[in-house]
Amino acid sequence: MAKKQFKAESKQLLNLMINSIYTHREIFLREIISNASDAIDKLHYRSISDSGVNVAREDFRIDVSYDKDARTITVSDNGIGMTKEDMDANLGVIAHSGSLDFKKEMEENADVDIIGQFGVGFYSAFLVSDKVTVRSKAYGQDQAWEWTSEGADGYTIKECEKDSWGTDVIMHLRPDDENEQYSEYLDSYRLRDLVKKYSDYVRWPIHMMVEHEDYVETGEKDENGEPKKDWVTSVRDEVVNSMVPIWQRGRDEVSDEDCKKFYKEKFRDWEDPVSVIRVNAEGLVSYRAMLFIPKVAPFNFYSRDYEPGLELYSSGVLIMDKCKDLLPDCFRFVKGVVDSPDLSLNISREMLQHDRQLATIRSNLEKKIKAELTRLLEEERETYEEFFGHFGAQIKYGIIQDYGMKADLLKDLVLFQSFDKDKLVTLREYRDAMPEDQPKIYYAAAESVARAKQVPQTEQVRAKGYDILLFGEDMDEFAVKTLREYDGKEFCDVSGGDLGLESEDEKKASDERQESEREVLDFVKETLGDRVVDVRVSRTLKTHAVCLSTEGDVSLEMEKYFASIPGDENRGIRAKRVLEVNVDHPAYAALKKAYAEDRERAKEMAEIMYDQAVLIAGMPLDDMLGYSDRVFRLFGQ
Ligand code: ADP
Repeated sequence: MAKKQFKAESKQLLNLMINSIYTHREIFLREIISNASDAIDKLHYRSISDSGVNVAREDFRIDVSYDKDARTITVSDNGIGMTKEDMDANLGVIAHSGSLDFKKEMEENADVDIIGQFGVGFYSAFLVSDKVTVRSKAYGQDQAWEWTSEGADGYTIKECEKDSWGTDVIMHLRPDDENEQYSEYLDSYRLRDLVKKYSDYVRWPIHMMVEHEDYVETGEKDENGEPKKDWVTSVRDEVVNSMVPIWQRGRDEVSDEDCKKFYKEKFRDWEDPVSVIRVNAEGLVSYRAMLFIPKVAPFNFYSRDYEPGLELYSSGVLIMDKCKDLLPDCFRFVKGVVDSPDLSLNISREMLQHDRQLATIRSNLEKKIKAELTRLLEEERETYEEFFGHFGAQIKYGIIQDYGMKADLLKDLVLFQSFDKDKLVTLREYRDAMPEDQPKIYYAAAESVARAKQVPQTEQVRAKGYDILLFGEDMDEFAVKTLREYDGKEFCDVSGGDLGLESEDEKKASDERQESEREVLDFVKETLGDRVVDVRVSRTLKTHAVCLSTEGDVSLEMEKYFASIPGDENRGIRAKRVLEVNVDHPAYAALKKAYAEDRERAKEMAEIMYDQAVLIAGMPLDDMLGYSDRVFRLFGQ
């Protein structure tokens, strides 16, 4: 029979995995058992929701067995099973999206822990096997099928005999070599320990024939006439997992450490979460939840591939594995499970969206997550900052999303870099440190925090002794624009219009200055044409010669952002640029002199002043060569 080829990507991955130095081979059992458990979940769900399916709950089971002579380990389940088409579709391709990304990562970092990080499910069988056989019969079908593969060069599927529905995964262990003793898995204690270690919470009984040494009467009598006893080995069928899902157990029974271990295995993270949130709610809707706040963003978190959501159970039956309606989108990084006996199993996905009970759970969870993040921020600042490094962009984005619907919820969770303190501060901290007379909350935005610090307009604000928030990410400015104000104080871009820093007298003096320089400034404006809406005497510059500021709602940083995102509709969004000139600067004196003596030269200087301001603002010049030529022409004069 011709071998079918794995999909190209899977093939590469499989080779990579088989040949990588892999330290946690033992997780293969967890992966295979978890597939068995999922298959039972599926059939169980059907048995409840579909009257045509008749399987009693207590009959579901998973069996783990081994054969020392044949060197095989078999995991059997009586779950939903697979048709020939299912096998083709599910076992011939790596199911996890993003597998290519992680393959790339693998190539860069040869001993990265693949499965520990991302999991490759069924394929992990090849960590210990050189051949895998899957015999399966889908529920309600007559024909069973056998899928066999010896690794990367393909697989075959043929008809086979199987009494009942369900799946057997038969793993043929590789021969032992100097590095690896695969035979260690052909041992009932070792296997039992692995089940306990990784699969204890699986809700279906995992049966094993376990060897026991018992001290029993032999039937003979000793010299004193007492019954003789001896050690006898027997093999008994045992359920080796405790089956109670971890979230159903009491707080005193399960330590935070246990929960973290569960998290890492279930959600395939290699880092402990920063927090475990346990909820046992009674009232309008009763439910238990166990939520985790990850420390590190998954590799695909900021891509379309990332699917947020919590696992939803009803009395231990999995209804949905990524239920989005349980989790406000701003907290989409949270992982976990929710289990409620009050939810009907028959609710369809569409109906779920409108379910009042779910809405109640969601709003409670939102409060719990917020409270936990606040606690972290207050009590474990360093941990919070690490978390924020990964998920801060999401929280800021949450402020902007849906026209600021969650802005109030999130505003005290954001951190920004403080100019003055040279560290991250909350808006509360900034606000509390504001001097009595500071009229606004100032910020400077650029493509990085370091550049923001160099924005020329920061000078005057700093001279007054006020702190400035330094923005280095696109989202920052949009977030504060959505908030508009914090605790009664408006946000104000130092490169924007009115900084509110001048006294009435100072304003008057500036206006007079503007008037007295009008002729030269108008000349500059005329020279620059529609590149600027105005040319003004700067009220903010102290030592620098020029800078760009803006009028209206769109700042330069926003213009850059709009230019960077795909789609034509935003391309035309431009900031209204104002050239600010420090009229006390020698450069301005030189311009004025040229204006009086040589208009052509004055034009060149006006052009250079504008280009300098554009460069300082971190924007590209429209005409680089023209700029360079102008500067060099000055050399010759
Ligand atoms: P995942 O479980 O993450 O989807 P896997 O690679 O572990 O990825 O499995 C791929 C698919 O193969 C599963 O989604 C399922 O459809 C099918 N499968 C694997 N094991 C079984 C099983 N024991 N019974 C039924 N289907 C299975």
